Amino acid sequence: MAYQLDALGRARGCNACAKLRRTMGKTFDIGLEVLAAGRSARSELALGLSHGSTGRGTFFLETFGCQMNEHDSEKVAGVLLARGYRQVETPDAASVILYNTCSIREKAAQKVFSRLGEFREKQHEGKIIGVLGCVAQQEGEGIFKRAPWVSLVCGSASYRKLPELLTELENGNHRVTGLETDTDETFETEVTRRDHPWRAYLTIIEGCDKACSYCVVPYTRGPERSRSSEAILRDVRQVADAGYTEVQLLGQTVNSYADPMARRMRFSELLLAVADVAGIRRVRFTTSHPKDFTQDIVDAIDAEPRLCEHVHLPVQSGSNRVLKEMQRTYTRPQYLEKIGMIRASKRPIAITTDIIVGFPGETDADFEETLSLLDEVRYDGIFSFKYSPRPNTRALSMRDAISEEEKSRRLAVLQDRQREIQIANNKSQIGESFEVLVSGKSRREGQWSGYTSSHKVMNFTSQAPALLGTYVQVTATDATPNSLQGEHVA
Ligand code: SF4
Repeated sequence: MAYQLDALGRARGCNACAKLRRTMGKTFDIGLEVLAAGRSARSELALGLSHGSTGRGTFFLETFGCQMNEHDSEKVAGVLLARGYRQVETPDAASVILYNTCSIREKAAQKVFSRLGEFREKQHEGKIIGVLGCVAQQEGEGIFKRAPWVSLVCGSASYRKLPELLTELENGNHRVTGLETDTDETFETEVTRRDHPWRAYLTIIEGCDKACSYCVVPYTRGPERSRSSEAILRDVRQVADAGYTEVQLLGQTVNSYADPMARRMRFSELLLAVADVAGIRRVRFTTSHPKDFTQDIVDAIDAEPRLCEHVHLPVQSGSNRVLKEMQRTYTRPQYLEKIGMIRASKRPIAITTDIIVGFPGETDADFEETLSLLDEVRYDGIFSFKYSPRPNTRALSMRDAISEEEKSRRLAVLQDRQREIQIANNKSQIGESFEVLVSGKSRREGQWSGYTSSHKVMNFTSQAPALLGTYVQVTATDATPNSLQGEHVA
């Protein structure tokens, strides 16, 4: 299937968001070029902006972490562009250098300080240096102590304050912070600079009210705040006008969406409303929390072909005992009920998941239960990780740590088992025809790639001259664990 089995250096801990990065990760093995040129300019022009706009200053924005982080950066860039800043490609060319990072990755803070060290000399050139995102939230004003050349520290829950923080900096203030997490506001931007050529990401819910014992997200991103259905649908219309046909709705627990407007649109109703916007052909959403996954979501997918045939439903463990320790709020049987609900749909919905191995106290028997869950569900893809402790989490103080060696062994066993399942799943689709949104072109003549509605990577041959960004029918002729191969049906 399209999904990479092992980490591509992605963040972990917030499994809800980490897998999103994977959707942007390397998926091709035939030297494909993703041709993004021109698309961003297209959307910015549609929004009344260009790189050559009014000239207040220039900014360089570097991003690490999950897709939520990537999309946050698109919105942060929008805030700066709307204020007349111009985006540049190097720190040297910038008057403002921003570094947006995820704290999920182990040793993330060290990496941030190491990178900030490289910017140390820039202060003498009068540049403003800022740290955004989860590391900013986690390290707070401590960043000023360790890197006094930094002027701005702002966590994601405070991005709505960015315009006023920028004003303070522009007025000569040398130290500004946005570190509050106790908020009921969401980050709304007039403008978003979109970096993905074919898919528009839209956050619909920020923060998380769950309390998984291994996860820092509730600490770094604050409580759940849903954006209004009106604002979301306005954004969808805007990206559709800019030429996007595929949107992906984002949230740490996207299906916990609670419309703050009087109409109280349910998540499934929102999905249908998004699909109904003129020009939209594909709607994706991630990540769903099993506890809030309900029949009406499956009914919506069944009823509306523009809702993609894919649900990402993180399970984390197949053992009831470990699930309880993780505070995942469901049992294995309850999770399997949700799987049964999806499998009973009229459309063939692909299911993917996240799994953590080596959680404190995970026994061989617990791990065997996770393996048996793989056999039972037969996922189309998994994102699997070794547990690693994170600051400000309950699991940090748990005993019975599993050795790194044993964690690695379990991860390898898990991935081998899943690889067998994926190759069998994918081979069973040989001969079937799929609609593919073409997103990549190989250097090799006549070789293309794209995604099916179920989010499988399809590498295919076609003699057509220009397919990028279009939808084509492709018949699968072969399969690997991570992709399908096929031929364009003219
Ligand atoms: S549900 Fe919330 S607390 Fe649990 S893993 Fe996802 S983001 Fe973290």
